[in-house]
Amino acid sequence: IVVEAVHWASVFSMNARLAERYRHGRVFIAGDAAHVHPPTGGQGLNTSVQDAYNLGWKLAAVLGGAPQSLLDTFEEERRPVAAGMLGLATRLLDSAKRGIRRRGREVSQLDIGYPESSLAMEQPERHDTLCAGDRAPDAPMRGAAGQPVRLFNLFQGTHWTLLGYEVADRAAVAARAGLRIYIVGKRGELFDDDGHMRDAYGLAADTWVLVRPDGYVGAMVEAGALSALEQYLTLVGLAADPTIP
Ligand SMILES: Cc1cc2nc3c(=O)[nH]c(=O)nc-3n(C[C@H](O)[C@H](O)[C@H](O)COP(=O)(O)OP(=O)(O)OC[C@H]3O[C@@H](n4cnc5c(N)ncnc54)[C@H](O)[C@@H]3O)c2cc1C
Repeated sequence: IVVEAVHWASVFSMNARLAERYRHGRVFIAGDAAHVHPPTGGQGLNTSVQDAYNLGWKLAAVLGGAPQSLLDTFEEERRPVAAGMLGLATRLLDSAKRGIRRRGREVSQLDIGYPESSLAMEQPERHDTLCAGDRAPDAPMRGAAGQPVRLFNLFQGTHWTLLGYEVADRAAVAARAGLRIYIVGKRGELFDDDGHMRDAYGLAADTWVLVRPDGYVGAMVEAGALSALEQYLTLVGLAADPTIP
C-alpha cells in the first residue's frame, strides 16, 4: 500500500481509566463508557460485549421479578475483569513499544470467571477442579435418540440450563419458565458415554450443575443441598411456579 495523502489524522495518547462505579441508582454504564485502555491485546470489544450481556440478563431477571440486589452483581463481577484487562493492555503496550508483540493465552478471555462472585454457589465447596463462577466448558454428548449433542448448543440463548448428572431423583427440581433441565445418564435426555462432561466439570454422580444465561457456572450442588439450589433460583428470578406441574 502506498499512502499518497493523509486527509485526517489524530494523535493517540495512552489512557487507562476505570469508572469507580458502574451503577448509580437506575443508571448503569458498560463498555468503553466504563473503561478505556490502549487497543493492544484487542480486549475492548470483547470486554464491552460481555459487560452488556452480564447486565442484560440481570435486567431481564429483575424485570421478571428477581430482587433488585441482583443488579449490584453487575459491577461486582465486571469491574474486576476490567481492572485486570487495563493492566494487561497497558503491559502489552509497554512491550509493543519495545518491539515485543507476543500475545499469551490471557488475551483470549477464555479463562475469565467469577469464582469470587456472590452469585457463585457450591455445596459442598470444591477444590482443584471446575468451580462455580468458572466458564461452563463444552462437552460432546449423546442424545436420547442417539444423536450427537454438544453442551455449548444447549447453553445458547438467554435461558438458564440445569444439568442433573446421574441423579437418583430426576424430578427433584421442578420445571419453571426460563430454566431448561436436562438429566444426564440413565432414563435421561443426555448420555456422557466417554466421560467428557464428567472430566471437564469434575463431576461425581448425583450432582446438579446450573449454568447461567451468559455461559458461566452459577451453582454446583450435590443432591443433599437442593434447598440451597432452590434459594439460589429464587434469587435470580426463577422461583418455582406452583401452577406448573
Ligand atoms: C484503534 C482501535 C483498535 C481496537 N481494536 C480492538 C480489537 O482488536 N478487539 C477488540 O475487542 N476491541 C478493539 N478496540 C476497542 C473497541 O473498538 C471498543 O472497546 C468498543 O467499540 C467499545 O464498544 P462500546 O459500545 O462500549 O462503545 P462504542 O463502540 O464507542 O459505542 C458508543 C456509541 O455511542 C455513541 N454515542 C456517543 N455519545 C452519544 C450520545 N450523547 N448520544 C447518542 N449516542 C452517543 C457513539 O457514536 C458510538 O456509536 C479497538 C479500539 C480502537 C480505538
